[in-house]
Amino acid sequence: ALTDRLSRLVKTMRGQARITESNVQDMLREVRMALLEADVALPVVRDFIARVKDKALGQEVVASLTPGQVLVSIVQKELAATMGEGVSDINLAVQPPAVILMAGLQGAGKTTTTAKLAKYLIEKRKKKVLTVSGDVYRPAAIEQLKTVTKQAGAEWFPSTPDQKPHDIAAAAIDYARKHYFDVLLVDTAGRLAIDELLMAEIKDLHALLHPVETLFVVDAMQGQDAINTAKAFKEALPLTGVVLTKLDGDSRGGAALSVRQVTGAPIKFAGVSEKIDGLEVFDADRHAGRVLGMGDIVALVEGVTKGLDVEAAQKLAEKMRSGTDFDLNDFLAQLSQMKKMGGLAGLMDNLPAEMTAKAGKPDMDKAERDMRRMEGIINSMTPLERRKPDLLKAKRKFRIAKGAGVQVQDVNRLLNQYEQMRDMMKKMKGGGLMKMMKQMGG
Ligand code: GDP
Ligand code: MG
Repeated sequence: ALTDRLSRLVKTMRGQARITESNVQDMLREVRMALLEADVALPVVRDFIARVKDKALGQEVVASLTPGQVLVSIVQKELAATMGEGVSDINLAVQPPAVILMAGLQGAGKTTTTAKLAKYLIEKRKKKVLTVSGDVYRPAAIEQLKTVTKQAGAEWFPSTPDQKPHDIAAAAIDYARKHYFDVLLVDTAGRLAIDELLMAEIKDLHALLHPVETLFVVDAMQGQDAINTAKAFKEALPLTGVVLTKLDGDSRGGAALSVRQVTGAPIKFAGVSEKIDGLEVFDADRHAGRVLGMGDIVALVEGVTKGLDVEAAQKLAEKMRSGTDFDLNDFLAQLSQMKKMGGLAGLMDNLPAEMTAKAGKPDMDKAERDMRRMEGIINSMTPLERRKPDLLKAKRKFRIAKGAGVQVQDVNRLLNQYEQMRDMMKKMKGGGLMKMMKQMGG
């Protein structure tokens, strides 16, 4: 589906000079599908599409770009803007101890994130950190926080299931003050569904603690439901930030968009593993690509506009599709296009992980070296030889090898590779770039 979307995208990149109602429709349909597949909530998708359309319509397309490219860049920017541009760190600008209150459903990752944050604040911000659990409903939850707090190298304030969360919090803040802690992280109970009692309890904690940060912890795998959870917590608490957990899972992380739109709070961190160091500062730009399911295709498209002759690339793409008349000129053009995009390594970097995983791990250095050598050989041929590689018999090969400073075997190898690629192109119908790269690298 990914490559389908990609090739559809490329198809919309042809020849029109401005973005119009009609050429924008198809493209926006793709974006809409991508967002829905990524589990962005429908009302959020509608708003988003409307904004993009608004920005795109009537926009002039500069000569070197196509409407498709311009639209991709508008979509990318709008996605990143919706999820919050730049990075917003934890706010600690208060008289210590700064209190951070963790809110969210059961299983969202509050306890895990509490410890991750403790470690982050100790290591990156050089703070003295205390944690406390107000989760008195599940005895194991308090023990869990104790264990992970130790791993984080922070101090844990004891609590027991027979205490009231309010009393626990009051004692913890008192202790934090007396012992000059910079930060108090307050882990709380969560229910499986939104629950009035739980909401009342956490509101009470908020009133008592005056936290500088009230973080809404939400599971990225929650998908469409995230919007309702976010609404409920937003109504109960003045949220200051969001932590999106389990982004290491296979969700496309569309929840980020929904949650951000509903809460208005910045997404500050992403949870990327169960381990204590599995916390990353949230990067909206990177996440935008993931939500669209295009990896950094956008970067690739931008690379295209920088280095590549778009028209030549399109001609070549046509030939690749039809597999006809693919001569050594095309082969050479192919190589030089790749080089302009930062070589094979750069190209691989710019493609979504799912695609590169399929292609395996080619030996990049070797591939790049081969590429340069192949270019040298083709450059030593006459135009006629390039158009009709069948002419290349022993004598001509010898001349070419001498001209390029290589052995005749190298010329033979190049011709083999050319033939393989030509045959492969006959077989494949688009989306075969990976296969080709694998062939060249392997
Ligand atoms: P809580 O009920 O909100 O306190 O949730 P927990 O912190 O106990 O986490 C619930 C489960 O999710 C645990 O098994 C965690 O190890 C796991 N978990 C939390 N955050 C992440 C994350 O970012 N990635 C992964 N893979 N698992 C996570
Ligand atoms: Mg917990």
